Amino acid sequence: MKQPIMDSLRFPGGKTRALTFSYDDGVLQDRRLVGILNDCGLRGTFNIGSGVLGYVDPTGLMTKLQPEEIAPLYAGHEIASHGLYHSAPTALGGPAALYEIIEDRRRLEELSGGIVRGFAYPYGAYDASVKQLLAAAGMAYARVVPSSGNFALPTDFLEWMPTAHHNDEKLMDLAKAFCGEQRFPHPALFYLWGHSYEFDQFDNWHVIEEFADYVAQFDQTVWFATNIEIHDYIQAYRQLIYSADAGMIYNPTATPLWMARGRDTFELAPGATVRLA
Ligand SMILES: [Zn+2]
Repeated sequence: MKQPIMDSLRFPGGKTRALTFSYDDGVLQDRRLVGILNDCGLRGTFNIGSGVLGYVDPTGLMTKLQPEEIAPLYAGHEIASHGLYHSAPTALGGPAALYEIIEDRRRLEELSGGIVRGFAYPYGAYDASVKQLLAAAGMAYARVVPSSGNFALPTDFLEWMPTAHHNDEKLMDLAKAFCGEQRFPHPALFYLWGHSYEFDQFDNWHVIEEFADYVAQFDQTVWFATNIEIHDYIQAYRQLIYSADAGMIYNPTATPLWMARGRDTFELAPGATVRLA
């Protein structure tokens, strides 16, 4: 009798785990945060409101970067939208909310020279109509504020829940559970978020330094990626085409994809049909 088939996504290189960061508001403290991530080979997404770049906070805490600094600072990371003026999209009415999304996208693309498809909800505010506006504006995903406390992949990319905020007192316990000996039958994602000015506010830069130093040791088993890279990889995987008996799988995408069936891990080259035993 045939065994039941249990296929499961694997990240690039056959890895079961991926790690990403999401930091909001484009503040000056991102310089130090990007330096920490770069030193450790880690990668993430920075959510920017292009209309408030250059704002000088009288308290000094939340001063924003200048527009011309965006492209060089975030090189190797993802630049995503956080709404043009950081307005709550649920409080604007449809046309103005759409303008906040699409005009921010346009300006960030001009500043960065790349395509912008990610979003983080200002104040975490969203509803069904805001999600429709994001989709209409070509946004692939949007991050919400409540944390899941787990490593599950998102079921709805327009309500992408992070694993934890960096001030979570269980942060290092979560990191050790994620990186440690435990085997994951399903792909696992650690998604950390916050604002880099909070490290000044709470005088706790050691939290992110300790986290980054710890997870960086696991580069052989954890894929370090931006939000959009993880989104695009999962979406490509979901396009795999199966034969009726699941003995053949066709990868119609331009992305090399990895999967596990039982104990075996396979690479599915772009355009290839793989025949499995
Ligand atoms: Zn914000």
